[in-house]
Amino acid sequence: MYPELAFEEHKTSKLIQDRLDSLGISVQTAVGKTGVVGTLSSKDNGKTIALRADMDALPIQETGKIPYKSKNEGIMHACGHDGHVAMLLGAAEVLSSKRDKLTGTVKFVFQPAEEGLGGARFMIEDGVLEGVDQIYGIHLWNYQECGTIGIKPGPIMAAADGFKLTIIGKGGHGAAPQGTKDAVLIAAQLIQSFQTIVSRDTNPIESTVISVGKINGGYNFNIIADKVVLEGTTRAYTEQNQKLIKSRMNDIIEGTERMFNCKIELDYMAGYPPTINDPSCAEHVLLCAKKIVGDSAAGHPYLSMGGEDFSYFLKEKPGAFFLVGSAPKNSEPLSIPHHCSHFDFEETALLVGTSVFVEIIEDLLITNN
Ligand SMILES: [Zn+2]
Ligand SMILES: [Zn+2]
Repeated sequence: MYPELAFEEHKTSKLIQDRLDSLGISVQTAVGKTGVVGTLSSKDNGKTIALRADMDALPIQETGKIPYKSKNEGIMHACGHDGHVAMLLGAAEVLSSKRDKLTGTVKFVFQPAEEGLGGARFMIEDGVLEGVDQIYGIHLWNYQECGTIGIKPGPIMAAADGFKLTIIGKGGHGAAPQGTKDAVLIAAQLIQSFQTIVSRDTNPIESTVISVGKINGGYNFNIIADKVVLEGTTRAYTEQNQKLIKSRMNDIIEGTERMFNCKIELDYMAGYPPTINDPSCAEHVLLCAKKIVGDSAAGHPYLSMGGEDFSYFLKEKPGAFFLVGSAPKNSEPLSIPHHCSHFDFEETALLVGTSVFVEIIEDLLITNN
């Protein structure tokens, strides 16, 4: 009910610190600005496994009619990161009660600023991955039924870049196009041409997306526009395709400049890299998930081209990101997506996610003798 935006998760961090403290887990604060790390170690020098939950909210006014609606004006947990915090705290509670049997170290990583500002990078800069052998991340997933787990080796979330381009033409009278450089026509040409990158330059087996989401320009119906600004996003599951899209966009822009004798300025914003699961860690999650939800309910996820900054951890260490089905019961499939103002999730999913986190650690670090 008290969601906080990226790098402003002060109350949230405090709540987490207090909870970890009460469980006798050692706590490090201000790791990546507002991040918190709990460490549960044993006397054995076994492996160190990190479990990660992100904790930031989104700038959306909550519209759902639920008793636990956001009390912070214009901010809500529309992605379910509050659920991630709950699952990781749940796992910390269960695992702290089994600390005598632990043969290694568990790091509970509560990360700020997943939604756009890349809090993962700040935690890495502050050394959160030092000594870590593997890292596992979780996401509630309203695209799947509650009681299912989505996991796969290789790419599971996409690279997400952004772009803004400014077409500088030459205005004039709508009835006398000669001598003008029509920025609206050039924009139309560019938007169409960009789609040929997806349909002709990339392997159709490897999904990519280019979306122009915003177009701004012009003055009146009878005036040729001298300037149009386009903004959009590109998505890819591999770094090769992420690079290819950018370089082909540049080629098309250069060609279009020559074709229309105009200037086009591109501001390309590199976003998160693709989230690529280590095959053996993904296999480990799959085996643990099957123990919790059964063989048929764990497997290939409902994939999206969304971005996720857990990718930065996976560039440094082997690990896996998995999806916990959380679609609210009695709602149409996909009718309550992440990032919508009436977002909600099925709370029993929290038990599933916590159990998988615990199982991952029990399997790797807990002796049963
Ligand atoms: Zn999100
Ligand atoms: Zn999210």
